[in-house]
Amino acid sequence: MMDESPSPLLFSSGTRDLTTPHSRPEDQAEEFFSLRPSSLREYIGQSETVETLEIAIAAAKKRGEPLEHVLLHGPPGLGKTTLAHIIAHEMGGRLTLTSGPALEKAGDLVGILTHLSEGDILFIDEIHRLPRMVEEFLYSAMEDFAIDFVFDKGVHARSHRFRLNRFVLVGATTRVGLLSAPLRDRFGLFRSLDFYEETDLVRIAARSADLLEIRLHPEGAQVLARRSRGTPRIVNRLLKRVRDYAQVRGDGHIYGKTVHEALALEGIDALGLTPLDRRYLRTIAEFYGGGPVGIEAIAATLQEESDTLVDVVEPYLLKTGLVVRTSAGRRLGAQAFSHLGSGLREVEGRK
Ligand code: ADP
Repeated sequence: MMDESPSPLLFSSGTRDLTTPHSRPEDQAEEFFSLRPSSLREYIGQSETVETLEIAIAAAKKRGEPLEHVLLHGPPGLGKTTLAHIIAHEMGGRLTLTSGPALEKAGDLVGILTHLSEGDILFIDEIHRLPRMVEEFLYSAMEDFAIDFVFDKGVHARSHRFRLNRFVLVGATTRVGLLSAPLRDRFGLFRSLDFYEETDLVRIAARSADLLEIRLHPEGAQVLARRSRGTPRIVNRLLKRVRDYAQVRGDGHIYGKTVHEALALEGIDALGLTPLDRRYLRTIAEFYGGGPVGIEAIAATLQEESDTLVDVVEPYLLKTGLVVRTSAGRRLGAQAFSHLGSGLREVEGRK
């Protein structure tokens, strides 16, 4: 039989948050308590997603029903977990957070599902990494709010249907293509989050600076936004690094110049690329003559996981055209060569 004790890797909202490989615990703690917007009104950018959710939430409330299951797709740090918090807040349900890799056995998932109350929200991060055995239990849970247990085998096999409270599943994934069709089809709402516009990132930086009582000048906010790879989590993280720099090396205020100086120390260049981004680009340029080259070859040369490159490094480089994906592999975009030259000079010139 299955082990029905809740997974030790499960965290419930209101107390703790999931630590994904892409967010550091220190950022999580501070973001969770003060920086995460708690309502759709406070959520900056992604206007179409916000509008879709506003309508769906208002309609579900009007009918007195739980919201349909929601699937959110997009690179790390764009606000998927934040939306799950907001949905729970707006629907008045409790939020339980877990992730695909944390649910190793069917019993881990069943333990969580049977503890959900009517209208609760279950957030599964990296849902594309759910083991297949576990995923199959989710089908009837999502569709019929029930799980079927099969006891014994062969002629003695009996099945028992266990009723669940009607809950809302919010799934998040960086790779929607890896989701099986039966799972994808069971979500009523599907939204892809895109990288944020610079103007939205300026507003996010300004809001976080207010909450953290940081004196961020408009030009400082602009430079910060331009160098944050279109990602709110990165804006918040860099803001804290620049705050340290301003307090130790400056007068505590953050001007454009302060951001330039502090980010050069962090190895972040004019386009917001990190040392890993540049190593990735340089590998294609220098080892593979600008490409095309397969991701596994790049990963092997860099000694990095190919999943990290695909989930964390590539989406922004593809978005900005620094890298192009072709059927034969990855190839550098035209501006990547000129940027590599100037990016290298800017950061390495300081050493
Ligand atoms: P994901 O789950 O997609 O990796 P998160 O929801 O954890 O991303 O977002 C990372 C951080 O970025 C949050 O803690 C929050 O402070 C900030 N953030 C994300 N989206 C927004 C937004 N739309 N407006 C303001 N802050 C945001």
